[in-house]
Amino acid sequence: MQNQVVRTRFAPSPTGFMHVGNLRTALYEYLIAKSMGGQFVLRIEDTDQERLVEGAVDIIYNTLRKVGLQHDEGPDIGGEYGPYVQSLRKDLYKPYAEQLVEQGKAYYCFCTKERLDALHESKDGEESFGGYDRHCRDLPKEEVERLLAAGTPYVIRQKMPVEGSTTFHDVVYGDITIENRELEDQVLLKSDGYPTYNFANVVDDHLMHITHVVRGCEYLTSTPKYNLLYEAFGWALPTYVHLPLIMGKNEDGSVSKLSKRHGATGFEDLVKEGYLPEAITNYIALLGWCPKENRELFTLAELAEHFSIDGISKSPAVFDYDKLTWFNAEYIRNMPQAEFIAAAQPYFQQVFGDKQVNLEVLATILQPRVTKLTEIPGIIGFFQDLPDYDKEFFINKKSKTNLENSVTMLEAAIAELEQVEDWQLDVIHERLIALAQQLEVKNGTLLWPVRIAAAGMLVTPGGAMEILAILGKDEAVRRLKIGLEKLHH
Ligand code: GLU
Repeated sequence: MQNQVVRTRFAPSPTGFMHVGNLRTALYEYLIAKSMGGQFVLRIEDTDQERLVEGAVDIIYNTLRKVGLQHDEGPDIGGEYGPYVQSLRKDLYKPYAEQLVEQGKAYYCFCTKERLDALHESKDGEESFGGYDRHCRDLPKEEVERLLAAGTPYVIRQKMPVEGSTTFHDVVYGDITIENRELEDQVLLKSDGYPTYNFANVVDDHLMHITHVVRGCEYLTSTPKYNLLYEAFGWALPTYVHLPLIMGKNEDGSVSKLSKRHGATGFEDLVKEGYLPEAITNYIALLGWCPKENRELFTLAELAEHFSIDGISKSPAVFDYDKLTWFNAEYIRNMPQAEFIAAAQPYFQQVFGDKQVNLEVLATILQPRVTKLTEIPGIIGFFQDLPDYDKEFFINKKSKTNLENSVTMLEAAIAELEQVEDWQLDVIHERLIALAQQLEVKNGTLLWPVRIAAAGMLVTPGGAMEILAILGKDEAVRRLKIGLEKLHH
């Protein structure tokens, strides 16, 4: 009985890094399942033993966890249709391949690597049968038995129809037809006993009751081969959802498939560049899917509510780093302060080390202006090292300051601030406002020179009081005295 619940699967090969394309596939699979009350399965496709990379599976788990794509079944949590790692399912594929041989839909191939390499170089095969030249396709039965009995290494290949065409339906791309003669007699079972990806994914998707197969459009041309397998076994076809390519912008204005030369393409690398997982997820959701309402900001839960397959587009999506930065800035601005402080912690650490600073005030001045977390050290570096500045900075027309009254202002501010015991933003605020009144000047006249001396910069994140609060009393007073000294020279 076919399971009616919508079931999707993310089936990454552990190759050591999570490309944004893979992450988008995972996200759409998750969203398709969740938007229809279904289940999202994680399956590790590690049958290509030569390509395995140590630690790669952890990268997959970590990424899914960081973006919040919680799977319902998978290697780490089990489920009804496990195991969920293909290498642990190794022995299950062979009988299916043998069944196809019996049905005349597959055959044993004894070609040596040398022969195949030579064939590949001569290009003969590619021209005739999409790759392999079908040398072993019609070996006499006795010959096959003799070679098997002699222990000759073999693979099992799928026997493609020689004429006609195969048509299938994709929800995004519509009906697609491929001429059968273009289909290679692909390997199903390798000589090491492992299935190929092309075989294992069909068997597993069937056994795991996957209803919607979601993957990149580079698999479109393989789908007829998969369908011939489903047909041979008499299994129901899944619904196919192929996703558009992700392109990157080139310097000359053209676009090409997103690659490292366009910028970071791995999830971890984007995080290292200061992008928040939530912003990456939100942005990636829109790379190929268009919401019905005119809106761009969605949390994962909101995406799960609004997502629908008919909003997926077949035109290539362009990965725009500036747009991602815009999303990131939005997310940073809207983060609860405590969350921002936690996310920014490693960058604060770079500047302040273990020094105690007022993180709330720091967050107040940074959140509205930071677009990427990695900008933080550059923006707040002046807290650690007072820049060497020009005393002309003290002159400001609007604040009515000049080199003479700046001296008076700084002297008064130092005297006042030295008496502050509870070094808090509101206390500093109150004392300086009262001081300006007492001196009968407008606030700006007092605060301009104080801010210049405290920061050593004309343009600063935050105002004088915030900067003083973050610096701490000793450092603040020391800097005002340096300013004063500058003015005396
Ligand atoms: N293991 C394949 C990959 O990582 C999965 C493709 C698919 O979703 O079927 O590309």
